[in-house]
Amino acid sequence: MKKAFLFLGAALLATGTAQAKDKDKDEAKEKGGEEAAKTLAQFVEGFRKTDGLFPLYRDPKTGEVYLELDADQLGSEFIYFTYTENGPVEANHFRGNFRDNRIVTFNKKYDRVEVEAVNTSFYFDPDSALARASEANIARAPIGNVKIAATSEDGRKFLISADALLEKEALSQIRPWQSPDDKPGSAFALGELSEDKTQISTFANFPDNTDIRVEYVFDNPKPFHFGGADITDARSVAILVQHSFLKMPAPGFEPRADDFRVGYFTNQKTDLTSIEHAPYRDVINRWRLEKKDPSAAVSDPVKPITFWIENTTPMELRGTIRDATLAWNEAFEAAGISNAIEVQIQPDDASWDAGDVRYNVMRWTSSPTPPFGGYGPSFTNPRTGEIIGADIMLEFIYLKSRIWQSEIFETAGLPSYGKSVPGMGRHAANCTLAADLQAKMMAARSVFAARGPSDDELDELLRQELAYLVLHEVGHTLGLTHNMRSSYSIPLSSLGSSSALPTNSVMDYTEINIAPSGQPQGQFAIARPGPYDVWAIQYGYTPEESLLTAIVARSTEPALVYGNDADDMRSPGTHIDPRVMIDDLSDDPIGWATQRAALVDQTLAVLADRVVDSGDTYQALVNSYYGLTGQKARAANIASRWIAGVYNNRSVVGQPGAQQPLVPVSVAEQRRALGVVSKLAFAPDAFSAGENLLNRLQVERRGFDMYGTNVDPQPHARALRVQQSLLDHLLHPNVLTRLTDTRRYGGAYPVSTYMAELTGVMFDADRSGPVNTYRQNLQVEYLTRLIGIASGAGGGMEPTPMGPRPLPTYDYVSRSAALAGIARIKAIAAGPAADAETRAHRAHLASLIAAFERR
Ligand SMILES: [Zn+2]
Repeated sequence: MKKAFLFLGAALLATGTAQAKDKDKDEAKEKGGEEAAKTLAQFVEGFRKTDGLFPLYRDPKTGEVYLELDADQLGSEFIYFTYTENGPVEANHFRGNFRDNRIVTFNKKYDRVEVEAVNTSFYFDPDSALARASEANIARAPIGNVKIAATSEDGRKFLISADALLEKEALSQIRPWQSPDDKPGSAFALGELSEDKTQISTFANFPDNTDIRVEYVFDNPKPFHFGGADITDARSVAILVQHSFLKMPAPGFEPRADDFRVGYFTNQKTDLTSIEHAPYRDVINRWRLEKKDPSAAVSDPVKPITFWIENTTPMELRGTIRDATLAWNEAFEAAGISNAIEVQIQPDDASWDAGDVRYNVMRWTSSPTPPFGGYGPSFTNPRTGEIIGADIMLEFIYLKSRIWQSEIFETAGLPSYGKSVPGMGRHAANCTLAADLQAKMMAARSVFAARGPSDDELDELLRQELAYLVLHEVGHTLGLTHNMRSSYSIPLSSLGSSSALPTNSVMDYTEINIAPSGQPQGQFAIARPGPYDVWAIQYGYTPEESLLTAIVARSTEPALVYGNDADDMRSPGTHIDPRVMIDDLSDDPIGWATQRAALVDQTLAVLADRVVDSGDTYQALVNSYYGLTGQKARAANIASRWIAGVYNNRSVVGQPGAQQPLVPVSVAEQRRALGVVSKLAFAPDAFSAGENLLNRLQVERRGFDMYGTNVDPQPHARALRVQQSLLDHLLHPNVLTRLTDTRRYGGAYPVSTYMAELTGVMFDADRSGPVNTYRQNLQVEYLTRLIGIASGAGGGMEPTPMGPRPLPTYDYVSRSAALAGIARIKAIAAGPAADAETRAHRAHLASLIAAFERR
């Protein structure tokens, strides 16, 4: 009893102190006016001063931090950049997450200082009279505003509270933006920002930059959703964010114009004084790399780009990471710059940490729920596109064989098209390379295991895939976007050659190149920058502007083709050119998909004896089965994209080697694709490979983790999900309408013919025999969709990489074709059935049609 009383007393005392402290803090913040009676020198007496771009003073008693602004700094532009040093993925944060990157100014308004975010999206020709109206109808953004706490005697220095400026979400939004569609309690959510708990933790100050870290704490006294294991307590979640203010870089950096044929991240600028059709003055993001000897054909740079390998990186991987990074130097040499990149290792006793924006660090983490396996963001001067700094985050996850239990029955191994990582920011938008790579690695390991164990081969696979991941993420930090088309330029027949590349760019997402049974094994992954990468670096980094026209004129060469995420066909019904696709390989993706599916089937046939040993649980078998069958589903998806495909050839008018801009895929190729999709996912025996494993697909129990989930394998639900993901594309309104549209510019596949053939795929094979249970589900699904199309469905929402969007409606031509399909199914349903089960199934089909006709 006494103990409890004492404890209570202590708690009250602690609360009392905290309240008193907060009151002081608030008064200091709010009553800055009264304090202004003191001069700056008097105000900061006893404070600890740290010199730098903005001198900082910390009150040793309260911990409060003040920032000093010089009169010369008022109205000047600074680069403002934030990143997350630590935070849970469930709150859309993670270590190394680059966030805001913009230009700000500090403006004095009487007794206050305002922080204004500057709009850099527009250009006005200074010679045009219009330039005088350059601020018209562009919203000013005063994002921060604080009282001046003290002024120096000479009136040239102003002190503001850094806490007051940064401890709110004024300069940067810390909580994820919430969609109006999110229902409260449906997902983990941060509570309200706690002013008491939120505070500046540390800061670092340098002549060119001031970095301040704030620990934001969000309180949610009554959480609906408790989050995962990484949310230690949903009632109180801390997120550590660094705010950096940087001096504008020295002049002399030449912005480089973007070209639509080469893939760089850009800062977009629209010329509002131009009368051109495309008045873009977009600048690419690139480092300042100048030749030390401008007259030399190849010269070392004045200052190389230095990457540091963080001291958390496993020793045995450092060599691979270093070599892969330095491999980019050969691309820079083609641009006339030798030793452009150097790699150093962060000493264990380094006096700086990876958050120091002056260092470009390759970081290594192992997170509970990794948002990615690799991430290579950079931040820039938004005015010029000059890259100021970059980090690379590498996740241990991709080396693991683990699947998240919760996802096993949902998505494990299935294509994750349309799934994106929140909060990744513009620079690495949807760079899910390593998450994909993990699923691919698991499948590859299974194939090797089935072939017979070879540790050397497995080590080599790991090394090559890690090198590929590093090459890819370094490519992002050099300014390069994805190139999802580059694998298309490699002949299928050359994949087994040890000298041939599996793709022409490290910026693609490619499947691991595993040789079909009995064929020679080529490289698993691209091991150095490919021809496209070398050429792109030449465009971005060749110092002599005069050479650029000739460089970009080469864009029609087969090895230099380009298409990024805004072209690729991972999402059903989105984009048009099937050559721009992720997870495929070679210039014959349909043929390659067939080969890969055959390899999966062969592996499934022998899997059980090879991946689990006596004494093991069946978990390895579960992982292998889902990894492999997921690969087959991906293969079918790749083939499906050729239906209604249109080649989108980008070049300028009259460019030598240029093809017609828009060319519909031939009917023969579309039919071939339909045949492959049918074989892999719709045929009566499409899911028979591996069925002998179903009664061993037992998940290893862990506590109550699978509570509320049924742990049986559920092959029908999984097969139907694969089929549904294909039908999402094959019957997408955009796909059906495009079949009709393309007939006016070279296409020749009427939607009525296509739909008749697709209906044949669904019904012909078992028309006279029994319809098996997979096919029963498929036929009902297909008929239901046809009824939806005929009824003019559409509307509704569909997921896309950019979030849900309204599904377009079906055009009349497509609706007519669907009606014809329904009529044909009606006849089939009315015909004789081979057995009682089939009879019941057909009666079901007939009842659906009757209900439709009664509408
Ligand atoms: Zn990427």
